[in-house]
Amino acid sequence: MRIFLEPDKCMHPENCMKCVLVCPAKVFMLKPKRTNQSKKGYDIAAVFRDMCDGCRECEKICPENCIHIEY
Ligand code: SF4
Ligand code: SF4
Repeated sequence: MRIFLEPDKCMHPENCMKCVLVCPAKVFMLKPKRTNQSKKGYDIAAVFRDMCDGCRECEKICPENCIHIEY
């Protein structure tokens, strides 16, 4: 199973959190962006990707189509 993220399409993960909340394996976390003027806030990250069981709930729920699961 591979998880592909397009974090540039996820502008404000802290206001969405849908993937974080839906994932039964708790794969996703918010990480602070690298600090400079244009990069404030958070990025979504698949921190515990080894825990993914491939249910694809994250892919289905993401309103910005940022997440792709490949078998
Ligand atoms: S496919 Fe399922 S287990 Fe894997 S990251 Fe997405 S929601 Fe979590
Ligand atoms: S569901 Fe999609 S838009 Fe929402 S935080 Fe996750 S990756 Fe970003």
